[in-house]
Amino acid sequence: MLVDSFGRVATDLRVSLTDRCNLRCAYCMPPEGLDWLPKPELLTADEIVRLVAIGVERLGVTEVRYTGGEPLLRRELVEIVAATARLSPRPQVSLTTNGIGLARLAAPLAEAGLDRVNVSLDTLDRDVFVRLAHRDRLPDVLDGLAAAVRAGLTPVKINSVLMRGVNEHEAVPLLRFSLEHGYELRFIEQMPLDAQHGWRREDMITADEILGLLNGSFDLVEDEPGRRGSAPAELFLVDGGPARVGVIGSVTRPFCGACDRVRLTADGQIRNCLFATEESDLRAALRSGASDDDLAARWIAAVGGKKPGHGIDDPSFLQPSRPMSAIGG
Ligand code: SF4
Repeated sequence: MLVDSFGRVATDLRVSLTDRCNLRCAYCMPPEGLDWLPKPELLTADEIVRLVAIGVERLGVTEVRYTGGEPLLRRELVEIVAATARLSPRPQVSLTTNGIGLARLAAPLAEAGLDRVNVSLDTLDRDVFVRLAHRDRLPDVLDGLAAAVRAGLTPVKINSVLMRGVNEHEAVPLLRFSLEHGYELRFIEQMPLDAQHGWRREDMITADEILGLLNGSFDLVEDEPGRRGSAPAELFLVDGGPARVGVIGSVTRPFCGACDRVRLTADGQIRNCLFATEESDLRAALRSGASDDDLAARWIAAVGGKKPGHGIDDPSFLQPSRPMSAIGG
């Protein structure tokens, strides 16, 4: 089991498959992009599957989420998902994506064993999309969402980040759109993980503000209050339900005390927290001939040293040097 010194057990493995992305969202990276990880440093598909198998079969991982950068850019994605779904015990297999390319890949991914998908969508306005993501790809994202439903990857979830002066006016339209199409919408507070280190707390739209923006147009009642557990989203029934909307107050309402996550980067580093400043290098061990037992022992040790929380409010808080695109969401 992957247990830390506070007794939390990591069962939710997030695996970044690439640091590359076909968008340039302002809260993630600069318009010119970043220096991508060199290809020889990336884990091969076989190396990824071997490490995921160790996590699932020896270390108690029950959910595997593939992330990026943009995971749909990884050519072997369908094969990696298929190999993951063949593990025993079979884990839940999910994907966090910007949706570009999902129109083509949703059906083969579902067939390979993908269970669920989260699609990032911050705006329904094509001009705002271009301003925010520096690419004119909103129609591709909308096509991807529809394809995910057709492929049965339901409930399809949408992740939205609201930014002051950019898209905060879209809180209500985004929820209306999600209700209309049967998508489950989650608003997420913006976190200090951008490569430009431009995050400022006062620019962040807080969970309270998000609820304030929605409350004027919808009747929101907390769904199963007190039952949040390790789930990051506080869920609200919309207009009596059954449709729900989630608000993830990563900064103002942290859920670190119940965290069950651990991350594997595309270059084979274990990160015990999104904000970890230290990593454990499984790639070097794996490529120098480490056995599965040895890799599992290193992984257990890496999780053992997990801190109690992200500490964003702590005066000594340091943003990790690795940008979000190279960590995974
Ligand atoms: S910030 Fe770190 S400890 Fe907190 S929920 Fe995220 S990964 Fe877990």
